Amino acid sequence: MKVLVYIDLLDGKPTAIARELANGAKQLAGSDGTVELAYFGQDANAVKDLGANKILLGPGAGPIYNPTIHGAYLDAAIDQSKPDLVLLGYTTSGLDLGPVVAMRRNLPVLSYCTAVRVADGRVEVDSQIYGGKLISTAQAALPSILLVNAGAFREADGTPNQSADIVELPPITSSANVEFVSATQPDPNAVDITKAARLLCVGRGIGDEDSIEEAREVAGLLSGELVGSRPIIDAGWLPKERQVGKSGRKVKPKLYLALGVSGAPEHIEGMGSADVIVAINTDAKAPIFDHAHIGANVDIADFLPAFKEAISKKVS
Ligand code: FAD
Repeated sequence: MKVLVYIDLLDGKPTAIARELANGAKQLAGSDGTVELAYFGQDANAVKDLGANKILLGPGAGPIYNPTIHGAYLDAAIDQSKPDLVLLGYTTSGLDLGPVVAMRRNLPVLSYCTAVRVADGRVEVDSQIYGGKLISTAQAALPSILLVNAGAFREADGTPNQSADIVELPPITSSANVEFVSATQPDPNAVDITKAARLLCVGRGIGDEDSIEEAREVAGLLSGELVGSRPIIDAGWLPKERQVGKSGRKVKPKLYLALGVSGAPEHIEGMGSADVIVAINTDAKAPIFDHAHIGANVDIADFLPAFKEAISKKVS
């Protein structure tokens, strides 16, 4: 079986999800299968450690992602590779390219995949719906295009194959109908939550903005940082640099204390690899409990003052 992986780039380097997909492709292809990378960055050395058999380059794609050019190169890569499966991340560029290329080629596209299996010439995927409370399973014939969520596969820690063949695709001559204008970099003076060893995260279950102050005090007592799920950031209760998840930061603290966070896939994507996850939630069936090492089915209004008192005694 042959699997082609589209390599998502950030500052010219493969993103974490691209690394996960490259490793997942090896598992899906099997020991006698082939993994090829559709890499449209500037330096093929950046992806040599991903352990693929072949790297397909897009000469002239430019340093900045462009959907028209990358879409045309992805088409050319599929023509060249003739894969059974094409893997893209469920990311901005994956969402741009996957459905368009699938439609152009009349291929099935399965999206939001959290698990992927291949058997009997078909691919089967799981997707989480309703904030992770339900899992839907879908099948498609090969060849297919998949948009895969971060965390569906792990990054490789084995010995990479450094000797991938490198093939340049024919240069794309068509001009882009989308023009890159600018990218906004995060404020360099903003807190870097990815560096904190302890994070206290407030979700919508915190209820109101006033309760955030008490959570901030407790985060301070833990010598940690206060972070939030997306609804908290969208409400303006915490600044954007404190958002954890798909459209926020990816964190890996020693302790992640989640108060009133349901555990939607987009949130888990940002914190699922924390060393110890503690969840406080009034809903015993909240998906966060599937990921938590320690969980309590408790109201934040009861937990927070009691925890603050207990931790204050410890630090005083
Ligand atoms: P809810 O899902 O509303 O959960 C609140 C939880 O609090 C519930 O489980 C409830 O049982 C519990 N609760 C209520 N009251 C109490 C109480 N008194 N005590 C204890 N528990 C209580 N989300 C992110 O977090 N980060 C992202 O980066 C992100 N990016 C996204 C990107 C995309 C493209 C999309 C589509 C979505 C994204 N989301 C992101 C949103 C995500 O899907 C969820 O909507 C969000 O994570 C839910 O936040 P929450 O858990 O705080 O709120």
